[in-house]
Amino acid sequence: MREAGKEEKRLAEEKDSFHDGVPAICVVVDGGWSKRSHKHSYNANSGVGIIVGRATGKLLHIGVRNRFCTACSLNIPADKHDCFKNWNASASEMEADIIVEGFVEAERVHGIRYTQFVGDGDSSVYPTLIQQVPGWGHAIHKLECANHCCKCYRGSLEKLVQDNPSYKGNGGLTEKMRRRLVSAARCAIKMRSQESDRRVGIRLLKADLKNGPSHCFGHHDKCSPDFCSTARDRLQSDNITLEVQTLEATTNDGGESTHDQVTCKFNLEVGFSIIYPNSIKHELDQHLFVQIADICSPM
Ligand SMILES: [Zn+2]
Ligand SMILES: [Zn+2]
Repeated sequence: MREAGKEEKRLAEEKDSFHDGVPAICVVVDGGWSKRSHKHSYNANSGVGIIVGRATGKLLHIGVRNRFCTACSLNIPADKHDCFKNWNASASEMEADIIVEGFVEAERVHGIRYTQFVGDGDSSVYPTLIQQVPGWGHAIHKLECANHCCKCYRGSLEKLVQDNPSYKGNGGLTEKMRRRLVSAARCAIKMRSQESDRRVGIRLLKADLKNGPSHCFGHHDKCSPDFCSTARDRLQSDNITLEVQTLEATTNDGGESTHDQVTCKFNLEVGFSIIYPNSIKHELDQHLFVQIADICSPM
């Protein structure tokens, strides 16, 4: 671990990353409990917490908390055994305690400060760090972990269909659809994190995440062409959309279309290629392209 610390320190110095003259790095923190499935189980008897340097991926701190000791439970006196018990508070606080310990020792052990950390979206570690790391706690910034975010998203979707089994039906939140929704979110996060202007990236990501379900359920009106092939096709050839609108509109009284745009849009996406052979499509294009485009255009 000392070696890992040295390496992180050197990299921070090379990058000119300092806080008050002390090399500052980004770390990844995580924790786990015995008998833990993701998120629940607050009655575990032991917990572990780790801090890993983000640049090297190497371990900088590890701690274990035990609430239970077999020898103690057999009433063997404390001075007669190597006692493993080192924790009396609640299981949910174990992780935070270990992580805080690692942050507090960072400067003494490694000569560095952890001013950024990537962590579990729902963990209570962050506020504890700010309060309890003396001197530079206020300078710590948290970065959300994309994998954890997506895991939580998936968890919420699972809970939703568990509470409402009828949502699972065909065309609804099927297992495949739930996987798709999460992977769309993951994909958007990955893409927008590469945006050089962070504010732009955040704005775009917000829109992508909000639009994700629409995209997955086949409504691509607001999709970004950056990663939706339907939106990309539309952009490359607006004509196609207009053509389809043309044809769709003509089925209703030749031009005096009254049907609403939603229906029009729906039909064009689902039924177009089957209903209209190419020859007719071409002919209609020639005649009605412009005027019908006006009817349906603000979509
Ligand atoms: Zn003991
Ligand atoms: Zn789309």
